Amino acid sequence: MTSSNSNSNKRQATRNKEWREKLTPEQYKIMREGGTEAPFSGEYVHTKDKGMYKCAACGNELFSSETKFDSGTGWPSFTEPKNKQNIELRIDKSDGMERVEVLCKKCGVHLGHVFDDGPSEKGGKRYCINSACLKLERSGK
Ligand code: FE
Repeated sequence: MTSSNSNSNKRQATRNKEWREKLTPEQYKIMREGGTEAPFSGEYVHTKDKGMYKCAACGNELFSSETKFDSGTGWPSFTEPKNKQNIELRIDKSDGMERVEVLCKKCGVHLGHVFDDGPSEKGGKRYCINSACLKLERSGK
């Protein structure tokens, strides 16, 4: 049992090392440790370009620019994911709050949170996503 735990720890350490090589330090802190970038600091806060926002770690299609809106919060905000199967939602009780965490379904990284204060005419959701977790593939129109 001790030995299998040690093997599992070793595998975990290898995975963490691979993630550190793949991500910038800021991305690692957000995507692997559930951190949050400073508001209004991210690359895509004000972006209105058309295209697909993909997972910066694995390329999974997460949010279409069609669903992006200006929430005034300082983080890219979307009314819905590209496809519900592409994300995972999980209750997050950290920092003394109960929130719903949004993760990439394909690679498991943390993306942000979803709140119920989005535009009511578009379903009322606000997916609050860190820019650092996204890579916009512009559609060129
Ligand atoms: Fe991913």
